[in-house]
Formats: sequence, structure tokens, C-alpha cells
Amino acid sequence: MNACGFNFDTTYFTLPDQFYTKLPPEPVRSPHLVILNEALANVMGLDFSELRTAEQAALFSGNELAEGATPFSQAYAGHQFGHFTILGDGRAHLWGEHVTPGRERFDIQFKGSGRTPYSRNGDGRAVLGPMLREYVISEAMHALAVPTTRSLAVVSTGEEVMRETVLPGAILTRVASSHLRVGTFEFAALQGGEDAVSSLMDYTIHRHYPELAGREERAVALIQAVMERQAELIVHWMRVGFIHGVMNTDNMTLSGETIDYGPCAFMDTYDPSTVFSSIDHAGRYAYGNQPKIAQWNLARLAEALLPCIDDDQERAVSIAQEVIDQFSDMFQQKWRAMMCSKLGLSETVSGDKQLIGDLLRWMETNHADYTNTFRDLSKQEKPTEKLYSQSSFEDWYARWQKRREQNSEPRSSSILRMKKANPALIPRNHKVEEALNAAHKGNLAPFQDLLGALKDPYEDPAEFLEGYQIPPNPSERVQQTFCGT
Ligand code: AMP
Ligand code: MG
Repeated sequence: MNACGFNFDTTYFTLPDQFYTKLPPEPVRSPHLVILNEALANVMGLDFSELRTAEQAALFSGNELAEGATPFSQAYAGHQFGHFTILGDGRAHLWGEHVTPGRERFDIQFKGSGRTPYSRNGDGRAVLGPMLREYVISEAMHALAVPTTRSLAVVSTGEEVMRETVLPGAILTRVASSHLRVGTFEFAALQGGEDAVSSLMDYTIHRHYPELAGREERAVALIQAVMERQAELIVHWMRVGFIHGVMNTDNMTLSGETIDYGPCAFMDTYDPSTVFSSIDHAGRYAYGNQPKIAQWNLARLAEALLPCIDDDQERAVSIAQEVIDQFSDMFQQKWRAMMCSKLGLSETVSGDKQLIGDLLRWMETNHADYTNTFRDLSKQEKPTEKLYSQSSFEDWYARWQKRREQNSEPRSSSILRMKKANPALIPRNHKVEEALNAAHKGNLAPFQDLLGALKDPYEDPAEFLEGYQIPPNPSERVQQTFCGT
């Protein structure tokens, strides 16, 4: 189809055959474009404005392929809630790798586009609510400056999808710097042995860490580099109060982008044990557990890479272990620097850890809203809300003021930095649910409004957007989010 600006150059096919299956998406009955991300299209050097509405719907449903697209599904494995399984794209087809005029490479991928050899018992389809959910949360994360896959379009398919009830089918078009996952390495180690792992390692380095190409001990260097990006990513999540919800190894990218928005959610009141996912009974993926789980997942990556680390397995294990053990310190250091920026402290000094910890404990005890507390602290004046009049808060506030006097930078610039670390707006669950419920009934206005509100989350919102800052009242509070796959 057409001259929208597509420029496919799919390097994934240089990997051994077992890593993918070429096949087209399954056509759908009656596609209808629900939303198209023109800003993202623009970033990618794409332009769909010449297409008629029906042509756009055909393109973003897979009923017509983009010019140069070579659709395929990827094979991978993964540890899901700690248990190993062979997976693969059970309901996803990549269009290929599109290279922008600025030479940036992006995977474009359908989610919900039909059955594949990796579908197991699934129907290959996706539901409108969850696809719109991924759309709004991934775009919000992007605006919050958190590395993430993005969303280009959602179409409804005109088909019914059977879940616990009958639901409207939909397809999301996702854009990612790649879909390489920890689980892709686990697959390679299991199915292909050392040669497959080694090809995948070189491919990953070429695509995401070109500075490591040609190095001795590339496997160790790759683990360290992925670890660094993952530590940075989780620090971002902790900063904005994001809970991924399904940090399985197949949902952890090697690029360091957030991927697969299922039962994810943003925390309202601060509590490290917060879990929203209806399937996470043990709290494995709770807010405060995310760093530990990231380390656990990276250990699975290191295991898969063992044959490339050393021929002597015992030596390989001990080298890998040493690398993985560095995660805690690396994370702690980045986390502390992030928390210092949330508190406007220009450099970390001893005592800061205590100061940060005391604030978080105060927030937890008093059920303070995570986002709003930090944003309130980012104001010139001391916040006056009733919650902050407690003596426990007053004491902490006085200590913080004293600490701020040691700052090398002037107050005005430290406040500016705080405002860039502490968003005024996040996609609060009750607002997301409200928007999705309306969309389900055919009214897209609340969804569009929510998207619009989340575009500049670090600006003090205009008065008409202030409602998005208000935490849910008890009756609005969302207790659980569902995969709704
Ligand atoms: P997710 O929870 O979206 O990360 O999916 C986990 C695995 O299940 C992936 O391999 C998906 O491709 C697969 N999967 C999820 N939903 C379906 C479905 N409806 N049909 C086929 N495969 C699915
Ligand atoms: Mg997944």
C-alpha cells in the first residue's frame, strides 16, 4: 500500500530461522480506526493523511500490508511468575523494521492480529479496552520521559472476542526500538545452543550496544550494559510510581524500554507493597519488589549467556554471578540520585538516605498520595493542606529545609529540577477506567481528553485539567486490574 513513507529493512531475518516464522496477519471482518498517533507517525517519518479512512483502517488492521512489509512472528521463551515456558508471539505480527529518514530503526508490530504457530490455546486476538489501555499508558510514559515502546494506532475489528464475556476485538500497532527480550535469549539457549546464543548476542550488540562490538568478553559486557539500562528503567518506574504488574522475563526488553502494558498501574497512596494485577496473588511484582525482580530476570539472561562467557561452566557461573551481584549497588546509587532530584538536593551527602527514608515512611503511615506529595514539595511555599500540619511532617520538613541550605545551586533552579522529576499528572487508574468504560460504550471523548491531559505532565496543569490530579475517593478506587488478554 501507498507512499506513506515506509522504509523497511528487516535485519531480524539474519538470525537463524528458528527465531521467527514468516506469516501474514489474519484478516478481520470490519476494521474501524479508533485512534491514530499522528505525532508519533511524524517522528517516524510517516504520513497517513493521504489515505482515506477505510484505507487507514485496512492498513492498521493488517487487511492490507504496508509497502515493503514482510510480516513475521518471533519465537521466545520466558519465566512467567518464576516458571519457565516456551512462548513466542501468540497474537502478534511484526511488519518489519522501519528506518526513519534520521536513520533510526523501529520495529512496527501488531498486537491482536491473529493466530500464529506460537498461539498455543489462544485465539490470537486482543480486546479493545486493554489495547486502548496500552495506548494511553505507553504514551503517558513517553511524556513522562520513561523509556517505553509506543503506540501508533488502535483499530476495532468488528469481531467479537470470547473472554469471560463477549468483548469487542481490537488490534494495537506498537512501535519499539526492538522486541528482543530476556526470553529471546532463554529461547536461544534452550533450542539453539551456543551458536544460536552467540548469533543473538552479536545481533543484540549490533542493534542496541554497538560500542561493544568487537570487544573481548562481549557476553559479560552485554550483561553489564543491559543491567545498567534496566536499573535506569526501574528507577524511572519508581520515580513516577509505576507498577508494571507482569515482570516476566519475556516482558523485559534488552533495549531498556518498558514493554507489554497489561495489568500495569500507577500507585496513588504510597505503599511499597501495592499490587494491582488480579493474577499476582503473592505480590511478586509489587511496586517495592520491582528492583529485586529485575535482578532476578537479569540472572536468567546471564544464565542463557553462560556458554559465551567461558567454556568452563563453573568459571562462567562464577563470573556471571559476580556481575549480577553488582546490580544492588548500581540500583541503589541510581535510586538515591533520583530521590535526591525529587527532593531538589543537588548532590547526595551522608544523611540523605535517612531523610528520604523518613519521608517515605511518613507517606506510608499517613496514606499520602505519592505523586501529589512530591509535587506539593516542589512548590516555593510550604504546602498548607491539613495532612502536612502534623508535627511528624513539620519535623521532617524542617530537617529538609536545613539540608537544602547546603545545596550549591540556588533555590529557584533546584525547584525547576524538582518539577522535572515530580510529575503533576499521571494516568490515575480511576481516570483510565472511566475513559475505557466510556470508550466501550462508543464515547471516545474522555479517552481523548485523558490523552490530551497527559501530554505535558511536568507543567502545572491548566485549571480545567486539575481534576486529573485528584486521587480517587474510596468508591472510585481501582483495586484490581486485569490482563483481559
Ligand atoms: P502477555 O501477557 O501479553 O505478555 O502474553 C504472554 C504470552 O501469551 C505471549 O506469548 C503472548 O503472545 C501469548 N498470548 C496472550 N494472549 C494470547 C491470545 N489471545 N492468543 C494467543 N496467544 C496469546
Ligand atoms: Mg508479553
